[in-house]
Amino acid sequence: MVIFYVLLLIHLYNLIFKISFMKALVYHGPAKQSWEEKPQPVIKESTDAIVKITKTTICGTDLHIMKGDVPTVTDGRILGHEGVGIIEEAGSGVANFKKGDHVLISCITSCGKCEYCKKGMYSHCINGGWILGNMIDGTQAEYVRIPHADNSLYHIPEDTDEEALVMLSDILPTGFECGVLNGKIQPGDSVAIVGAGPIGLAALLTAQFYTPAQIIMIDVDDNRLQVAKTFGATNIINSNKEDAIENVMKLTAGKGVDTAIEAVGIPATFELCQSVIAPGGCIANIGVHGKSVELHLETLWSRNITITTRLVDTVTTPMLFKNVQSGKLDAKKLITHHFKLEQIIEAYKTFGNAAEEKALKVILEA
Ligand code: ZN
Ligand code: ZN
Repeated sequence: MVIFYVLLLIHLYNLIFKISFMKALVYHGPAKQSWEEKPQPVIKESTDAIVKITKTTICGTDLHIMKGDVPTVTDGRILGHEGVGIIEEAGSGVANFKKGDHVLISCITSCGKCEYCKKGMYSHCINGGWILGNMIDGTQAEYVRIPHADNSLYHIPEDTDEEALVMLSDILPTGFECGVLNGKIQPGDSVAIVGAGPIGLAALLTAQFYTPAQIIMIDVDDNRLQVAKTFGATNIINSNKEDAIENVMKLTAGKGVDTAIEAVGIPATFELCQSVIAPGGCIANIGVHGKSVELHLETLWSRNITITTRLVDTVTTPMLFKNVQSGKLDAKKLITHHFKLEQIIEAYKTFGNAAEEKALKVILEA
């Protein structure tokens, strides 16, 4: 009887305050997650929009979070920072979007007004940055609240293949901005990309805008290396089976590469980049590093090397969008698996077992 009254009270409360519920993937501490009911997000600031998710995906960063590596993500957080959807409601201060618009969600939320946004460094927006699925609830849900909607969403024209666009939320701009742009790739250059996961492959695809003569892909997974070959790598090296440094030197007439892109995030791969960089070369780091790395200044001090770091700013998203839409950039190649959104726990298992499952990016459809 008591339970009956409690349920009745909850029901009345929900009716009065019009709380609706949705399903979402919720983080409950390391290795603990569940697909559960959560209140639907509501507009908090006039510049917010509520987006009904149609397609989302899982990122390598989400796996880091599930290991407990990202302390800003706390118990109860809805994960996810990538996806496409339809505007359910736009706040009164949102000028560019209205209910029913199809939108691409950027992994970086930015106000467009602060000092860093004015410099194009959206990732360091003092009112945003990478907050989705981190400091605020994310996209692995039926609905998500997007702050600063005008600057953090992109219109999707009618008759667009929206599945391919999910690759534009994070991995394509990350591979391009942190790897290719920071690596200053020029026509005729030699490039080594260390790590053939989705981000390394996104760097491989977008590096080809600049027609480098050589792109050498280095990884420990033969399947991913074969995929890299079909994506345009000129050479592949399995660093578990052969000496990566020796082979890169052989392929570059003993000089090393003009650009080395680090797309793993462990000391060994960053050190490999230092060992294969040619004089005047550029080491562009993409990897998320959890440990300090040895910097070999005793050999690099005289070699005119540049080392760059960056968080993706998503300032190139509109340009990449056009190239995906025209078919020049075949983003769909990165998608290997499809699931329904409610199968997300299974999708995490598949993505977490990427080598055995031969998984790159998974698409979750609502
Ligand atoms: Zn991501
Ligand atoms: Zn800002």
